[in-house]
Amino acid sequence: MFIKKHRRFGGFRQQDANEFTACLLDQLSQEEAGRPPRPDVRSVVDRVFQGRQQTCVTCTACGTSYYTESLFTGLNVPVASSLPHDSERVTDQKVMDAIQTAKLPVHQDYESLHLCPSIEGCLARHTFPDVAQGFKCLYCTLMWYQAALTKKLSGELDESTKKEYQDHLVTVKEGLELVSEASASRRPLSDEDTEPYDTYFTRRPVRQAATVRVALVGPAAPQVLMIALTRFKQTGVKVVKNNDPVGFRETLDMAPFSIGGPAPRYRLRGVTIHSGGLGGGHYTAVCRAGATWTHYSDSSVRSGVKPDVQPYVLFYERIDEEKEDLDESPDLE
Ligand SMILES: [Zn+2]
Repeated sequence: MFIKKHRRFGGFRQQDANEFTACLLDQLSQEEAGRPPRPDVRSVVDRVFQGRQQTCVTCTACGTSYYTESLFTGLNVPVASSLPHDSERVTDQKVMDAIQTAKLPVHQDYESLHLCPSIEGCLARHTFPDVAQGFKCLYCTLMWYQAALTKKLSGELDESTKKEYQDHLVTVKEGLELVSEASASRRPLSDEDTEPYDTYFTRRPVRQAATVRVALVGPAAPQVLMIALTRFKQTGVKVVKNNDPVGFRETLDMAPFSIGGPAPRYRLRGVTIHSGGLGGGHYTAVCRAGATWTHYSDSSVRSGVKPDVQPYVLFYERIDEEKEDLDESPDLE
């Protein structure tokens, strides 16, 4: 049934397990929502797998932060060790300078996590701020207009021009207050919020360097968190695979990578593993039921096999702190 609708997954071609999972969940979600989809219905897939993340862009010149929120079903996270070390260090210094300017919180173990690849290290890299050039900062733009209008108003003007500039200045000052308030309270600005300032912004935007940081919204973390490691990478015309081991433990604390309130801890329930290369690889899975790990490889099923250190997609289940003791299982270490 699924293959009939998604023929690219049929036959004997090489497939991507992460892409397949995303497509399967999307199909299940669509079927539950019905046709045409009802926007008021949140499917079981959404309720179980969907989380919310926040992107924070901070202007390095004025320190104003702009927040946007989006939904995600599974995270795609780069393998931390795949980053080229020397150029990464240069980038790091730039990022560190920008962070100091913007006073952004940083995972305290970032350096050591980066050097020792683990799921936590990969997540630290994923949520670590990057620098973007040419960001159009609304606050800096309005500051430029405020200075320009104040200068013009100090000169000789006829009454109607003076009135026009004074009105503009009131609008600009209101805009500065609004943007400051949204930045301080971490509130995303809506289109209605920024609409009165669109003409200033379109006519003469002020571009600055900015830091961009992604974090999970703690209280909106999903019931089941899927983390796919970006092991396949396009370099020019070639796709290469990164086989580096990535360490992981039975539990995962998402607090260091989350904002906005308490973030849950997770317990590993299953791992998808890709062995081999791009020309001919093989997928296996290791899943936990109670305290027993079971390895699945086509028709071969073996109990008591723990997942190895080359995971591709990891499936974590949120720990219900009150019931934690009932579902305890031995640690992987
Ligand atoms: Zn700015």
